[in-house]
Amino acid sequence: MVGVFSVQITFHGAARQVTGSAHLLEFGNRRILLDCGLFDSDRLNPDSPNRHFTFDPLSLDAVVISHAHNDHIGRLPCLMRAGYRGPIYATPATADILNVMLRDSARIQREDVRQAEARRSMGYDDQGAIQAIEPLFELHDVEWVVERLQRLPYDVSTEIVEGVHLTYRDAGHILGSAMIQLDYTEAGTKRRFLFTGDLGRRSMGLLPDPTIVRGIDILVSESTYGAKELDSHDKLIKQLHAIVARASRLRSKIIIPAFSLGRTQRMIYCFQELFDFHKVKPIPVYVDSPLSNRLTDIHREHPKAYTPRAQKLMDRDPIYFGSSNVHYSTGWEDSRRLNNLDGPLIIIASSGMCDAGRVRHHLKHTVSDPDNAIVIVSYQAEGTLGRQIAEGEEQIKIIDQWYDLNAAVYVLDGFSGHADRNDLQWWYEQTGGNIERAFLVHGEPEQMLSLSEILQPHVTTDVVMAEPLHTYEV
Ligand SMILES: [Zn+2]
Repeated sequence: MVGVFSVQITFHGAARQVTGSAHLLEFGNRRILLDCGLFDSDRLNPDSPNRHFTFDPLSLDAVVISHAHNDHIGRLPCLMRAGYRGPIYATPATADILNVMLRDSARIQREDVRQAEARRSMGYDDQGAIQAIEPLFELHDVEWVVERLQRLPYDVSTEIVEGVHLTYRDAGHILGSAMIQLDYTEAGTKRRFLFTGDLGRRSMGLLPDPTIVRGIDILVSESTYGAKELDSHDKLIKQLHAIVARASRLRSKIIIPAFSLGRTQRMIYCFQELFDFHKVKPIPVYVDSPLSNRLTDIHREHPKAYTPRAQKLMDRDPIYFGSSNVHYSTGWEDSRRLNNLDGPLIIIASSGMCDAGRVRHHLKHTVSDPDNAIVIVSYQAEGTLGRQIAEGEEQIKIIDQWYDLNAAVYVLDGFSGHADRNDLQWWYEQTGGNIERAFLVHGEPEQMLSLSEILQPHVTTDVVMAEPLHTYEV
């Protein structure tokens, strides 16, 4: 296929919003889908964008995944339902993680449907609000995804469709995360396309900085924090130090709601760093989430993925993310036992926004005591319990009961796995500039607008804030 053909890109998700990542690249008649993510929408709503593809899944020749967050992989099983049977490319760690994440997603959807049916059978649906609905996908659809996975390591070029070579570059966002580099020849000229996926932060301890890629002709860049500056790793470690010192003094408990993938492992690493490198007197850290445990196991299986500093630290322990201070609970009994333990101690539990999972039970037992602390380390969406805590409401409703929120609340801004404005600026500068076309995705319009100003000097045409479902010739 070497020769003249047109290249087009259409943004089927994460355009002027941060979920549903899915970008369709057409090289002549070859079609490659980058990511196949879940939109943030009511899973049971039949009109949800998750239930309909805006492209023909059967026309795809290949699917390339950047990393294993649900907003980048969550609809892969739906592709299988629609009949796609081509290859799905992922880095080895991403392949391992998405297997766990998609199975968990299938389980949650089953449970959602079961609960909706139960509510309706109890007569709570006289408005007809609860729709007769099926899960988006079932476990056997996930099996098909796993069957089609092709594992490609970083920095190895592979021809995935005729004339188009894929090279994954470490994005430093979560374990296995990658930028997608596609090299091809157009009218006798070598061309390089690069999609950042989600780009990580610099100097954050556990994962390496995002890889520098030069010679980019067409760039599709994320823009989540295009207008925001986040705290540095050193500042975050200092803040954690103060919180741990307070808990030691008061013999109290610290609760950290954390997402199971990425944030939990990062928090464990930070405490290990605090206790080991910074010689802070250790207090026990309990990790209470079955999903986190499975994902932490996968993190142990990829010991080369971390910075030399992190490897040095973790090599001292019997297993990575394991030391005498870190304890992983398994069953409910283990989880309940934590309620009876005296402080000082730290409990890291999911969900990250406190709207599900075991963290709610730990909050019930701790929020009313002013000696305890709740540490918010991730974004809290509007309407979630986590948001109410972060905003310091006087009373909060946990499951079905009201509690006084007397515990100290710390909101630490900077544990995000996303590059902030300064990180993005640094990364753009390293590309060497001369980028011919640049598109911003995965951001709210105000973030994109602000980021386009710092990207523009490196691009020879106007930076484009990608419009959903719009097709651009590149
Ligand atoms: Zn991500």
